[in-house]
Amino acid sequence: MNLLKTYIRDVADFPKKGILFKDITPLLKSPDGVALCLESLLSQLQNLKIDKVVAIEARGFFFGILLAQALKVPFVPIRKAGKLPRKVVARPYDLEYSSDVLEMHDDAIQIGDNVLIHDDVLATGGTAEAVCRIVESAGGKVVQCNFIMELNKLQGAKKISSYPIYAAVNY
Ligand code: AMP
Repeated sequence: MNLLKTYIRDVADFPKKGILFKDITPLLKSPDGVALCLESLLSQLQNLKIDKVVAIEARGFFFGILLAQALKVPFVPIRKAGKLPRKVVARPYDLEYSSDVLEMHDDAIQIGDNVLIHDDVLATGGTAEAVCRIVESAGGKVVQCNFIMELNKLQGAKKISSYPIYAAVNY
């Protein structure tokens, strides 16, 4: 078994009944686990030119900032609607029973930037797809979407099949 899985905890019926929540707080609590996860994500980036790391609020920020620092490139946060103080590029996206809006500062990406997108979990893929579109509408090129884990049953990879994808762990 992938050693990383020992740091990821299942919590049944959170945040609502029927959802098996993948809790990464044990991973964050372990310096060895964090190093292992970061190493796995970085191992798939060796031959890629990356100008910026874009990560998704909030659990994407943990490894997003570590990746940007390791790659020595700028970090760009994507946030939920109304959190960023300046002019934004926005995109609505569908959640299981509702929809929401994600935003990025409109000067965060330069035309032609090679962008790595990071989030903790790839589930249905709606979130990652919205982020890819935001990055592209700002003129960036998505070179990879990476995740701590992919929940294969939910087929999120299909929604972002036009981009390279890597998940350190698959369920
Ligand atoms: P999706 O848009 O369906 O791919 O959902 C991805 C987003 O929802 C990520 O930002 C995750 O943080 C969160 N998420 C979805 N499903 C789970 C899950 N089972 N456990 C933890 N986080 C999840």
